[in-house]
Amino acid sequence: MSINVIKRDGKVVAFSSDKIKRAISNAATRIGEMSEQDIDRITEIVVNKCDRLPGDSVSVEQIQDLVEDTLLKSKFNRTAKSYILFRDMRTRNRDNKSKLLKDIAKKLNGTNIVNQNANLDEASFGGRKGEAANELMKWFALNNCMSKKSRENHLNNEIYIHDLDSYALGCHNCLSIPFDHLLANGFDTRQTDIRPASSINTAFQLVAVIFQLQSLQQFGGVASTHLDWTMVPYVRKSFAKHFLDGMEYICDNGVEYDKEELLKLSIDSKLYHEQPKVYKYALAKTEKELAQAVEGMYHNLNTLQSRSGNQLPFSSINYGTCTLPEGRMVIKALLEGCIKGVGKHHRTSIFPCGIFQYMKGVNDRPGTPNYDLYRLALESTARRLYPNYANVDWSGNAGYDRNDPKTYFSTMGCRTANGFDINHDEGVNPQTKDGRGNLCPVTIIMPTLAMEAGRDVDCFMALLDTKIHEAKDMLIERYEYICAQDPSAARFMYENNVMLGYKPEEGIRSALKHGTLAIGQLGLAETLELLVGCNHTHPEGMALAHRIEGLFKQRIAEFKQKYKLNFGVYYTPAENLCYTAMKKFKEKYGEIEKVSDRDYFTNSMHVPVWEEMDIFRKIDIESELTGYSSAGCITYVELDSAAKSNIDALETIVNYAMDKDIPYFALNLSNDTCLDCGYTEEFNDHCPECGSKNIQQLRRVTGYLTNDYKTAFNYGKQKEVEDRFQHIKLTKGWKNEL
Ligand SMILES: [Zn+2]
Repeated sequence: MSINVIKRDGKVVAFSSDKIKRAISNAATRIGEMSEQDIDRITEIVVNKCDRLPGDSVSVEQIQDLVEDTLLKSKFNRTAKSYILFRDMRTRNRDNKSKLLKDIAKKLNGTNIVNQNANLDEASFGGRKGEAANELMKWFALNNCMSKKSRENHLNNEIYIHDLDSYALGCHNCLSIPFDHLLANGFDTRQTDIRPASSINTAFQLVAVIFQLQSLQQFGGVASTHLDWTMVPYVRKSFAKHFLDGMEYICDNGVEYDKEELLKLSIDSKLYHEQPKVYKYALAKTEKELAQAVEGMYHNLNTLQSRSGNQLPFSSINYGTCTLPEGRMVIKALLEGCIKGVGKHHRTSIFPCGIFQYMKGVNDRPGTPNYDLYRLALESTARRLYPNYANVDWSGNAGYDRNDPKTYFSTMGCRTANGFDINHDEGVNPQTKDGRGNLCPVTIIMPTLAMEAGRDVDCFMALLDTKIHEAKDMLIERYEYICAQDPSAARFMYENNVMLGYKPEEGIRSALKHGTLAIGQLGLAETLELLVGCNHTHPEGMALAHRIEGLFKQRIAEFKQKYKLNFGVYYTPAENLCYTAMKKFKEKYGEIEKVSDRDYFTNSMHVPVWEEMDIFRKIDIESELTGYSSAGCITYVELDSAAKSNIDALETIVNYAMDKDIPYFALNLSNDTCLDCGYTEEFNDHCPECGSKNIQQLRRVTGYLTNDYKTAFNYGKQKEVEDRFQHIKLTKGWKNEL
């Protein structure tokens, strides 16, 4: 035969009947129904068919079609089937690989910048390298690290696996860092060992360093749960030092104090007041050192790039409840630092996310010891969007210890929170937050299930139940994968007991078992719309919302007992997923009114951002559902820039949310800054002061803030921001009567 074969890559080679025979023989061997003669005969038929084709060349695909056709027409049905399956698998592998290479190329060139997470600079060298590698990591994880069921759920837009690019590595999501013990005892890093902090200045520097170090051991956020209490000993150290200096240089009356004895004292103790002049000096020096230390931390956390230089650590700090004079000083300094802003134009600090811990009897009303600081917090929120508000008395954190701030309700900025630890060690309060975090969330995309259930409520509830069980299986599968890693992959975390409970003899499972396995959800509003024709702003929608959330809560409680793992209901941030899940949904089901006629799904169980209602109604509706979650949720309301000058109104709003048992609450105010003159107000596309178009428009993404939303947010999230209804507009007489 003199014909040529055109290969897939375009190369031309000579026709070979041997290759055809080998392909048939491979299929035949797998089944065992053909003899050597049978194979020869089929090969001959195929060769003859090739010969009769018009032209002088034939493609590989054409030859394979002929083999398939010939086998199908023969009596060797099972061999034919095997051949087809094998061919199909090879095709899929080839498609997969070429798609993978294309995706990698796009990320390397920076031609596919989607801002999947607003803190990540995908255009930078570090970002491009990281993102290109992530494409490979995702592909590898889907094809090698998980069961078929997990992969299908993810690819079918039913149960989304978060941070797929970190799956194959086996690292976990986020952590509340036990700063108390790290600062008191020091810690080891690969290159050196760090001594315990000896002053408030070094303590705050170490906080930034530790945030940075820990964020390299995991893929998500890092938090401190009670930074005001944590810093008390270091304020005392600095104060004692300044006091002794004062005794030496200002007073010099021959009275001597023992430094070790001084460190045991409150800075407000009688002994210090015996030297009024020196006391005043020491206090002023300490306050100045503290202010500089806080400023240093804000600057560090907004500049110390992490993860190959393309993002900042997602850092959060909780504070507000310490009534000791040292703790109060720290809270005040943190808030004043936040209000001051960073850089030449005093821009709003993106990190850390500040969270004020609202606590009854401590800071909630006039006459309580930290009420003045709560007011200062509100002022800061008005100008800087931070702090947000965590509700220490939230019913979901029942059982916490009033004498132990490690057990107070605290949260990651985004909303992820540590619930009751079913594996708590003896003598440790199960609500302890420090040293624990979220391990690996998945999110159930409920609108897909509603469609697959034919928009029938009972079918949906049954399917949802199945998917909640599958989500649990997917989490256990990934948990086991994470537990199989070697502690040497995260030395800083394990060797310094940054993650609670690590016992080398028991392996890393001893620490990981305290973490959360979060089952998240997306698009409750759209799901209700599909099932009953209205969302939960209507009674019928709300009734079904209770059924749905009740099922989540019930199943999670059962799983927690059965598997002795900390499963939790999670109201997912879905920063990127709100957009990508919607894109996939539209491709499959088209545009459905009030469901897929926008570019994003509504976040978790939130009221859709475009629903017009007043602030209190928004809080009322969401507060009906927040109690079902245990692994984190957030509620926010939209205000206008006029609210900035009405701190009383802001206080009324936050108090209302706290009274309604909202666990984590944030106020969204617009925050626009001119990068040329520093003017800060709400404005559209140019600065009203100097006319510059070089402006930064900050908006809240998930709980965190980010840089200008028009460049840092993905397309769906940008659209969501633009649709956000300002609830203040319908809040009657809010300026006077609130
Ligand atoms: Zn300007």
